[in-house]
This record gives sequence, C-alpha cells and structure tokens, in this order.
Amino acid sequence: MSKKIRRRDFIRSTAAAGLVLSSPKAFKGGAPAVLIQGVKPAVISSANGNHFKNGGNETCVQKAFRLMTAGTDVLDALIEGVNILELDPEEDSVGYGGLPNAEGVVQLDSSCMHGPKKRAGAVAALEGVRTPSRVAKAVMENTDHHLLVGHGAQQFARDMGFTIEDDLNTKHSRELWLEWKRRTDPSHYLDPKSRAELWRREGLKMIREGLIREEHFYGTINCDGVNSKGEICGVTTTSGLSWKIPGRVGDSPILGAGLYVDGAVGAAGSTGRGEANLYNLCSFLIVEEMRRGAHPKDAGMEALRRIKANTIEKRLLNSRGLPNFGINFYVLNARGEHAGVSMYEGAKYAVCTDAGPQTLPCEALLQGKPD
Ligand code: ASP
Repeated sequence: MSKKIRRRDFIRSTAAAGLVLSSPKAFKGGAPAVLIQGVKPAVISSANGNHFKNGGNETCVQKAFRLMTAGTDVLDALIEGVNILELDPEEDSVGYGGLPNAEGVVQLDSSCMHGPKKRAGAVAALEGVRTPSRVAKAVMENTDHHLLVGHGAQQFARDMGFTIEDDLNTKHSRELWLEWKRRTDPSHYLDPKSRAELWRREGLKMIREGLIREEHFYGTINCDGVNSKGEICGVTTTSGLSWKIPGRVGDSPILGAGLYVDGAVGAAGSTGRGEANLYNLCSFLIVEEMRRGAHPKDAGMEALRRIKANTIEKRLLNSRGLPNFGINFYVLNARGEHAGVSMYEGAKYAVCTDAGPQTLPCEALLQGKPD
C-alpha cells in the first residue's frame, strides 16, 4: 500500500475519532509516526496493576508509565509492567503461581498488540513459562502468525530461549487446587443439574469462605498505554478461569476479545467471564464505537449492554434475570482519555498519568452484585 493511501486512511480514521493530526510523517521500520495534538500520556489497567507486588516499590502502571515517558517503546513498557504480576508467586491470577486447571496444571493465555506497527501476537494454554506476555511478543516479532497454542506455543518458547519449567504451581496454588479437588467430582461438562452446578457452587463457596478472592476465580491483567506521540499498545495476560477444563482458552489471547488496539483510535481490554466476552468480541466492538466518535466510557457501556442482551441462558442469570457474572473493560483512546466499566458496581481500574498512579472506580451498568 502506498504512503499516500495510508495517509488518507489515517486522516479518515482519526477524523472519525475526533483527533487532530499535526504532521503525518514517513514511516520508520513500518511503524507510522502518528502525531496527535493534545495527547495526555496514560497507562491504564485492571485494578491489580496498581498493587505493589513481590516486595517491589513500583506498581505495574507506574513502571510502565515511567518507562514509556522515558522513551521506551509503549508495548515494551507495558510488558515490563505486567511482568511484575506474572512473576509474583502470590499473584494467583496471572503467570507463575496462577490458579491451575482441573488437572492441577497451570495453563497461561496472553496477547499483545502494537498500534503503530499494526502487529499482534498471542499464546494460549501455554505451560511452563512464567511470562506468557513475553512469549506473545516473541510470536508477534518472530513469526507470520498471531496465535500459538499448547505444546506448539511451548516448543516455540523453548526455541526462542525461554526457560521452560515443569510446574508453575506454587505451594499456595496447589493447595487451593487440592481443596477444590477434594470438594468436587472432576467432571466439568455442562449438566446444569449436577456437575457443572457443583463445580460453580464449590468455586463460589471457596470465594465466600475467603480461600480465593473473587477477582482471582477469574483474574487477569490487561494493560494499555498511549505516549505523547499518540502511539497506543496493549497487553493482556492471565492464568484464566480457575479449575478450567484442560485446554480451555478464554478471551485474553483472542484479538478483539481480551484485547484490541487500533493505533489511530484506541485500545480496549477485559477481565472477568471470558466466555461472555468471546461471544460478543467486545474489545473490537469498543474500539469500533470509539472510531465512530464515542467516549471510552460510552463505548465500554455499549459492550456491557451487548453482553447483557445476549445472556439468556437460565444458568447464567440471577434471580433478577440479570447476568450472574462480573466482567470489566478498560478503555483508552488516542487522546489519553480513559474509562473502566463493569457489569456490576464495585470494580476498580488503575491509571497512571503525569499526576501519578491512581485507582479509580469503574462505571457500572447494573446495580448490586452478580448473585
Ligand atoms: N477473562 C479471563 C478468562 O476468562 C479471566 C479473567 O479475566 O478473570 O480467561
């Protein structure tokens, strides 16, 4: 495609998003130098991105923002940020020590997208590597593909020089898995009258008993950033749904679901019930809403309304006839405006700007709790 056409396309898409182009430049290394006036650099993430981890003195959003504003490539900065959580043995929703699947095996999902370079990479059901986000980036940089899964993803990681470990469980994650195993029949196929219900009930009981935090039954980090040049990237990484059927892949590694970035428009990512997001491809939907001019909050709300409208199975509804699960979206546009939105009240998201790191409430679609 010629530069002329690219420039015209770019102007069309940025104009739709209400952005001002100051001077489109020649592309270096295939990456458009997108200059947008009035960008407020920002890094946003799920709330766990503003928790101190592993005895460190910087949170994920702080670190990513510091690196990004010092000139590090936006995606590299975000991945450095989420690595803090992936490597923390006490963070049981991401990376090393993430809660395992029904057979006690930690299987990790991750995706990343680079707005300016228009490239993406992802891995799913990856075993044995503590930092799946780095493997996702290696897929982006070293292959013609967007998604590698399971054994193939692990073999690729080995070939790229990643350390492969036999078991990513920590004492904590294995003990919780054993507790769950003790309570349930290890069958996970949908049978509302018995086993699927038992699986859910026991999982929820473990949350109520304080053994697992609700956000860790599901649990993920999505992190998105835009620098002063308007360059936008995003990454999502997770151990996925606790006690999942081996091989289950959630929304996190699926482009358009757990993450979507359009370098001229914005980024969106998700945590929560991945199946609801996969059915509706909400991150893509949110970015498209922003392309048509919607503010990040309104774009995110539209996705939640779509999920609510498409949730009709009885087993997924509470006594009020509403979705009985939580799901959140983190949304950033090319000007640095952002929002966190959630199906129910109480969720939060993290943001770091020149004003420093903050944890802010998500805007909720529905009142009360999922159950
Ligand atoms: N969305 C992730 C999944 O379904 C889990 C989470 O975000 O909590 O795998």
